[in-house]
Amino acid sequence: MNFDPVSEAKRIGSLIVSWRRDFHMHPELGYEEERTSRIVEEHLREWGYSIKRVGTGIIADIGEGEKTIALRADMDALPIQEENEVPYKSKVPGKMHACGHDAHTAMLLGAAKIIAEHRDELKGRVRLIFQPAEEGGNGAVKMIEGGALEGVDAIFGFHVWMDLPSGIIGIRDGPFLAGAGIFNGKIIGKGGHGASPHETVDPIPIAAETVLAFQTIVSRNIEPIETGVVSVTSVHGGTAFNVIPEEVEFKGTFRFFKPEVGELIQMRMREILDGITKAHRARYELSIEELTPPTINTKEMADFARKVAEKYGLKYGEVRPTMGAEDFAFYLQKVPGAFLALGIRNEEKGIIYPHHHPKFDVDEDVLYIGTAMEVALAFEFLSE
Ligand SMILES: [Zn+2]
Ligand SMILES: [Zn+2]
Repeated sequence: MNFDPVSEAKRIGSLIVSWRRDFHMHPELGYEEERTSRIVEEHLREWGYSIKRVGTGIIADIGEGEKTIALRADMDALPIQEENEVPYKSKVPGKMHACGHDAHTAMLLGAAKIIAEHRDELKGRVRLIFQPAEEGGNGAVKMIEGGALEGVDAIFGFHVWMDLPSGIIGIRDGPFLAGAGIFNGKIIGKGGHGASPHETVDPIPIAAETVLAFQTIVSRNIEPIETGVVSVTSVHGGTAFNVIPEEVEFKGTFRFFKPEVGELIQMRMREILDGITKAHRARYELSIEELTPPTINTKEMADFARKVAEKYGLKYGEVRPTMGAEDFAFYLQKVPGAFLALGIRNEEKGIIYPHHHPKFDVDEDVLYIGTAMEVALAFEFLSE
């Protein structure tokens, strides 16, 4: 590569910030990213990308060659009322970019501009994926169905990260974010008079026993050095003081890093419910939905990212795993790659509030680093 991606990204730093502020002022929820995607598409067309639309998502290609590297940004905001008093405060009541996806879109747009300016030096294809609905909408799945990964050899994505100091790139091998699932269950007994329990099958003590037994899945069934979460977050049964209800409903979430742990949790929930309800002559229903698999970085690609950061003098370090989930996981199930973090925590500027907090903000002065890294990853990958 005959140019320095870091100084090029720095040169357009204020442009990246102005895009970010514009997106921040006009947040759109999952699958409603009409304005955001229109602006992204206009720029990409102007810079010579070929565009494929997948709803409000965009797949944009530039360059030709044997290898293809994909870079991904998410565009959706959250249903949160912003509490920051800043000139670029959200103009839409009840909606806010409180996870930093505005920054992801702006960083990748910056990378798109620089890559296009140097397209003659590209030795392969760069594919940009601007996806909708990361927040619980699994927009990544829609993009994959729309062909986003066809011909792709590796994929990288960035998330701005409050747990890292500003400007540090967080790189991790293996599991980074957890897999997440939800369960909905029902214990079905036989209702009756509160004074005649012997004529009923009371689902309430059965539900209580089940909730307690679920707590033993993590503590007694998962190998102690592994990790998982089983949280029953809602239990509901009965309405009157003197009536034993027919049913108790419950729901909750489970989290895991290894697919086999996720499977074990699901199997044990079924076995526990099966055994306890049988013992008490009740029945049960249980539906389990695995929402997002764990986000597992390919070690080889994480190493490649470290090598690239090192080469261009970008500061990088370890990033701690979290039990949160991210739909980037779906891309990593199909192709090798790594999900990277960009530190944005800056105590001096008061940028300390966690993701999804109404006072969440990002340290805009380091966004060019994400852009520089994306450009460097693309050119280095294609010239290897
Ligand atoms: Zn989020
Ligand atoms: Zn996010």
